[in-house]
Amino acid sequence: MKSFITIKELKEKISKKELTAKEIIAYYIDRFKKYDPVVKSALEIFDEESIINATDQNGPLAGIPGLIKDNISQKDRRLTCASRILENFVTTYDATAVDRLKKSGAPLIGRANMDEFAMGSSTETSAFFKTTNPWDVTRVPGGSSGGSAAAVAAGLVPWALGSETGGSVRQPAGLCGIVGFKPTYGLISRYGLVAYGSSLDQIGIFATTAYDAAAVCSAIAGHDERDSTSLAVEPKDYTAQLDGKLPTNLRIGVVQNALHAEGMDSEVVAAIERAIEEYKKMGAIIHYVTLPTFDYSAAAYFIISRAEGASNLARFDGVRYGMRSTDAKNLKELYSKTRHDGFGQEVRIRIMVGNYVLSAGHAGEFYENAKKVQRLIRAEMVNTFKDVDMLIMPTQPAPAFKIGAFDTDKLQMDLQDYFNCPMNLSGNPALSIPCGFSKNGLPIGMQLVGPHLSEAIIFKVADAYQQQTLWHTMHPKGFE
Ligand code: GLN
Repeated sequence: MKSFITIKELKEKISKKELTAKEIIAYYIDRFKKYDPVVKSALEIFDEESIINATDQNGPLAGIPGLIKDNISQKDRRLTCASRILENFVTTYDATAVDRLKKSGAPLIGRANMDEFAMGSSTETSAFFKTTNPWDVTRVPGGSSGGSAAAVAAGLVPWALGSETGGSVRQPAGLCGIVGFKPTYGLISRYGLVAYGSSLDQIGIFATTAYDAAAVCSAIAGHDERDSTSLAVEPKDYTAQLDGKLPTNLRIGVVQNALHAEGMDSEVVAAIERAIEEYKKMGAIIHYVTLPTFDYSAAAYFIISRAEGASNLARFDGVRYGMRSTDAKNLKELYSKTRHDGFGQEVRIRIMVGNYVLSAGHAGEFYENAKKVQRLIRAEMVNTFKDVDMLIMPTQPAPAFKIGAFDTDKLQMDLQDYFNCPMNLSGNPALSIPCGFSKNGLPIGMQLVGPHLSEAIIFKVADAYQQQTLWHTMHPKGFE
């Protein structure tokens, strides 16, 4: 079997009986054994028999293995969020997305590394180990879903699930040269996704092509009564309209204040300008738009995510879940020792900041103001989509940075989210797609952003680009 095979190709081989599900699972487990000591994308790869036993044998994804970010619940498996506090915690139920994947036949082969509790942009805050970027192992894969992204980029698995609160699927997809998709808030159930910022959190998908991401989306999207924020949307086949053509008279808005933001890497700008030309050739009508509220989104995201994160993580108290301090003298000490020893530094800082911005006397200045900015961003998005059908903008300001580069510069790390947070705050769907390489061989990503529930159009616009270009067919060396 050739390496770097797509879901579409695997499905063909299975239907022609050239490959069995069992052979494919064994093949990918072998790839993990061979290459993951370098990439370090997985916290655990399950044994073959338990994978097969947990999965239906029929369905649209039968025999197509995937890796699941370790903040998404897989029954009877550990669920650690890459944190010491949950290091030995075994979950008792399937997330809705996981349940639907199993019913679609998809073998789920392991748990992906991530930033601790999804807090980070580089997968460096994992309590266990750092994942590397397959294009250059001295660099980060992005985060917080870095394990999922690196595994797909290295061809260790054809697709993976991640989660987004502020760009954690699109940003690592961009840095690893693959497709990363974040749905409209409410399209994919959050049931079984460990909460970080509940008003922002969504499960997202990694794959190498828009077609493949659409195939996985078709298996998991749609209403779920167990998530009160789930939208009343029927499941559908998002691959059905992917014929390589753009919708006619498609109006694409280039987000000027993003593309030409201060500090943008010139190679990223050039790659996106080439992609815009490509879309023009394919018949799109190019508009140039400015969305002033985007410039405030990272600040608003910073406050809202910390506030909601601090509230959500209050449940890890040493009593109900996971780790419990053994030498505490009283209940108060039990809480504080467990939380101090169980959470890493980044998580502890965020809990403190979150409680501060919510505290009496400060909530008005911080949290409530941030929520006002969120409403402005939403309104601006709605207005913008009266004039254009889709937005195009960078996924990140520059290609992958070196491991450790921002150890002492947390502001720079937070600014990695700059182009991603607007869509988490507004709830709009967005997809990052590879659109070029820097001179030193690092992938560059661009984002397509659409109105609420425009997933089918986003996949179509991304697929049309991939039918015309070869970026998605390029893979890192050393993983043959
Ligand atoms: N970089 C963002 C953060 O650290 C990403 C969060 C996310 O999307 N999970 O908050």
